[in-house]
Amino acid sequence: MRIDADREVCTSAGMCALTDPGRFDQAEADGRVVVLDAEVPEGDPAALAAAERCPSGAITLR
Ligand code: SF4
Repeated sequence: MRIDADREVCTSAGMCALTDPGRFDQAEADGRVVVLDAEVPEGDPAALAAAERCPSGAITLR
């Protein structure tokens, strides 16, 4: 699977970085999401949880 995070939609809530800190970070300048590793093993539970918990729906898995 591959992760996409839409920085235009991100509201800097930080749930993704809290849920899956190895894969997501937040930019120092604006707090918006930074994807550290976009390639995700199929069904990765942390990545799925991060996408589910994002309040703005900025994270998509495909
Ligand atoms: S959880 Fe969603 S809104 Fe919050 S920083 Fe991550 S991508 Fe942005």
